[in-house]
Amino acid sequence: MQSSNPEHEPFSVSFLGTGTSHGIPVISCGCVVCASTDPRDRRWRSSLLIRSGSTAIAIDCGPDFREQMLREKVDRLDAVVLTHEHRDHLAGIDDLRVFNYHSQGDFPLYCTHAVEEQVRQGWRYAFKPSPYPGIPQLGFVPIENERFTIGELHILPIPVLHYRLPVLGFRIGPFAYITDVSHIPDSSFQLLEGVDTIVLGALRKTPHLAHFSLTQAMEAARKTRARQAYFIHMSHDMGLHRKVEAELPPGMNLSYDGLTLHFGR
Ligand SMILES: [Zn+2]
Ligand SMILES: [Zn+2]
Ligand SMILES: [Zn+2]
Repeated sequence: MQSSNPEHEPFSVSFLGTGTSHGIPVISCGCVVCASTDPRDRRWRSSLLIRSGSTAIAIDCGPDFREQMLREKVDRLDAVVLTHEHRDHLAGIDDLRVFNYHSQGDFPLYCTHAVEEQVRQGWRYAFKPSPYPGIPQLGFVPIENERFTIGELHILPIPVLHYRLPVLGFRIGPFAYITDVSHIPDSSFQLLEGVDTIVLGALRKTPHLAHFSLTQAMEAARKTRARQAYFIHMSHDMGLHRKVEAELPPGMNLSYDGLTLHFGR
């Protein structure tokens, strides 16, 4: 069965950002969350760094990508895997240029054909037949629903819906990461069978058309029977990290920027 865990090397995941598209603090907002001095209430746009042996990849590269790479001291990146085409997950593409200097070739973006199309439209200058010097050199590696491998990492796409937009979550052995999501089909719950740690988008406590609320994300986490759930892609409407954490049951936590988790063999 496709959801069975293949042999995998030990790996770590670091939350580069855990905020929704506005980030926290929100520009010009003076709410208690945006004014908080707790570092866990500062959330860059959601993205994940995964490291295994000599392999390092990011899931998404949003508008905070440059600062995220600097904070995590990433000096080499093998690929970016994209969940979907919204700008809060793509806007850092221009900053992938630095990795071109190291790799001498196109930087690989793993994504669906639909996302590739949007990147080609959004960064047209990067795909002209005679490119301007200094532009990002990008190469696309098409992914759909089949498992793929980058270095030591075996990655299984988990299709979900973000209102009507198809989005890919990703599973690596005991770990799964699903960002913008409002519906997980049963076939995808099957792919999550046996997962130990699940990351799920949870925008805020009140409902939203395109994102799970905290309650919906908790329900989905329970359905997977994961030992541990972390929530991401939060807006300032979620409330103070410290307060919401105190309300959550054991095995469920809000993630925060900079949190790193380790997974053994
Ligand atoms: Zn998003
Ligand atoms: Zn605010
Ligand atoms: Zn989105």
